[in-house]
Amino acid sequence: MVNIAILGCGGLGQNMALLIEQKKDFKLVGICDRNAYFFDEKGISGLIVKDANSVEKVHGSVKSTNSIKDLISNYKDKIDAIFIALPNLPNEFIPNIAQEIISIRYKGVIVDALKRTKAVEMIKRLDSDLKRADILYLTGCGATPGLLTAAAALAAQSFVEVLDVTITFGVGIANWEMYKATIREDIAHLPGFNPEIVSKMTDKEVMKELEKRNGILELHHMEHADDIMLELANVCSRDRVTTGGIVDTKNPKKPISTNVKITGRTFEGKISTHQFVLGDETTMAANVNGPILGYMKSGLWLYDLGTRGALTSACIMPHFGAAKDNYLEIQKRQKTALAIAAS
Ligand code: NAD
Repeated sequence: MVNIAILGCGGLGQNMALLIEQKKDFKLVGICDRNAYFFDEKGISGLIVKDANSVEKVHGSVKSTNSIKDLISNYKDKIDAIFIALPNLPNEFIPNIAQEIISIRYKGVIVDALKRTKAVEMIKRLDSDLKRADILYLTGCGATPGLLTAAAALAAQSFVEVLDVTITFGVGIANWEMYKATIREDIAHLPGFNPEIVSKMTDKEVMKELEKRNGILELHHMEHADDIMLELANVCSRDRVTTGGIVDTKNPKKPISTNVKITGRTFEGKISTHQFVLGDETTMAANVNGPILGYMKSGLWLYDLGTRGALTSACIMPHFGAAKDNYLEIQKRQKTALAIAAS
């Protein structure tokens, strides 16, 4: 049984608590949000957490303005794995939390659903600190980056060279208040915005921006960490990876199907595209939290084998061997030489 703590009790945090209810191998023992934390080694009911909608309202919780530190420092020996379901605004917020967890001397597995390239780079820079602290930190393990990035790394195996990875996501939610951080972070990708600007916006200002667009966010060429994760996994250079999507903040129906297309060259010289499409009935919560738990299990397995440091979801996949840069050129020369020899 894996004892889990969730940092953050918003859209993803609450739905993770509900998901854990249906899993045999996991037990939710700790949860916190901005105002309070709660720990119970016997297990915390996901239904109670969802119903309360905030940790403060859960019977037995402790009010705190420093809830992350209080939860982890008081109970670190009883927590096997941590899911960080916090807003990442500004960009360094979650990397700073990771540093705080190191300084509290927690030992174990941490998993996040970070989205921005720069944020994942910051986590990678903590690699040696995490190793020294006896932590295995898996970053970018949500849907995108996460499930779709890992799918791209798997699909790449059919090719000798990956030419293009295009990720397109569709998200439908009934109202933006269910996933405030997610929507704010998406707005940060729109022209004229960035994480610093969005982190200072009031809820009213966010709502005004959403109203202007009739609740729909169209996102193109996002600064999404799928690019650096596939580069680090040796699949292709980051400039070959593109992420975009449509988010409807007023309707739970997905506006488009979420999918990833991987185009590559096979060893026979054919160009082809694999496509992985998520079922339209699967929600953002299902496609983020499911992979988070899966990576947590892989993380605990790797932890037992002695792995420490910062890894991404894409590198816990079959590894990709880069193509010889000049292979086609060499082949052409060999063919010419053979033809000359035969004539
Ligand atoms: P949310 O806004 O619904 O909830 C955030 C929670 O964090 C709230 O409970 C809030 O009280 C708590 N919190 C904020 N600051 C805190 C602090 N200092 N200490 C303790 N608790 C604090 O967030 P969400 O929409 O569920 O998103 C969570 C994260 O998941 C975001 O970073 C988002 O980008 C990420 N996400 C990733 C993917 C993916 O596919 N990779 C998809 C969706 C969301």
